[in-house]
Amino acid sequence: MSAPFMPAETLEVFCRFCGKITPNQLERSIAGNGRTIDKNATFEYYCTKCFKTACFSGNDLLEQARTDGKDEARDYSPHDHFLIGERLFHKKFKESGLVVSKDSGTPSSVLVSFEKAGLKKLVQDI
Ligand SMILES: [Zn+2]
Repeated sequence: MSAPFMPAETLEVFCRFCGKITPNQLERSIAGNGRTIDKNATFEYYCTKCFKTACFSGNDLLEQARTDGKDEARDYSPHDHFLIGERLFHKKFKESGLVVSKDSGTPSSVLVSFEKAGLKKLVQDI
């Protein structure tokens, strides 16, 4: 059995319709075959600016309980898996950034918003 999972109610996400980072609100949770809301469920968020929706897997989202400590950035490594809403620290840019989107290609990548370096696409799960 998998543990229940509740992602953050609001997320800063890169909206491809707005072309910028906007606050997104959790709209609904879609359970998988097991009918349990866990990490394998799909979560639908809507952009509070254009009201378009985007779906994310629980595996790619920061858990609600963990958002309290979100100022603590994790060191970036291409071998790790990062979550939307999480902060990571990049040694090359010498600053931390917020993970605002995902691309499930091969390898998969995260879109990270840095204050000085701007939006950067970083590979993960290598
Ligand atoms: Zn939008």
